[in-house]
Amino acid sequence: MAWPLSLVRSLWEGTSTPRPITGHVEPASPPDALEIDPEGWLVGAHVELAPSVRHSRLSVPEPIAIVWHYTATDHGTARTMARRIRTYRRGVDRAASWHVCVGHDGVLWQSVPLLRGAWHCARGTIGGRRVNACSVGIELEGRGDAFPAAQVNAADRLVRALVEAYAIPREQAGRGHREFDPARRSDPGPVWEALLPGLLASSYSR
Ligand SMILES: [Zn+2]
Repeated sequence: MAWPLSLVRSLWEGTSTPRPITGHVEPASPPDALEIDPEGWLVGAHVELAPSVRHSRLSVPEPIAIVWHYTATDHGTARTMARRIRTYRRGVDRAASWHVCVGHDGVLWQSVPLLRGAWHCARGTIGGRRVNACSVGIELEGRGDAFPAAQVNAADRLVRALVEAYAIPREQAGRGHREFDPARRSDPGPVWEALLPGLLASSYSR
């Protein structure tokens, strides 16, 4: 069947006519905009998703706390670590995972969606709930002694997005792994703990 010429022309014109100028220009999203999709995956620049099978159910509808860690590995290892935890062999691999690892270069490596529990803090409870079943676990790439500006800015960006998406009380947004397992853990360490109040103040004042 041959299409009527008028229809062909209108289709062609429809695709070739430039959009009218209305005088209103939509602002482009700022380059540091970071959003969270309905499943709990980060959406934005400098986000790398490496979905892991290492996750469990949350006992709350959405996370109510943020627990901070450092990886105790060198800068540049976030990618390798994200790849390593994608799979899990019971009895072979250590049962460890996290939601997001903040790279020294500012890249956010996400392994577990924020509406699932990651395996970042085996001990302790928050408000009677197991930590892994109610919190976001954030790893900071490095050994806890120095945090480059790009990494601090990325962590700030992440906290802002978390606070906007979920009802996380401020007093639960700066928890440290060592609080829950003081005999075995010292992360995130004094350097990060000194930076945290300022970082949280900026997120919670918006
Ligand atoms: Zn830890």
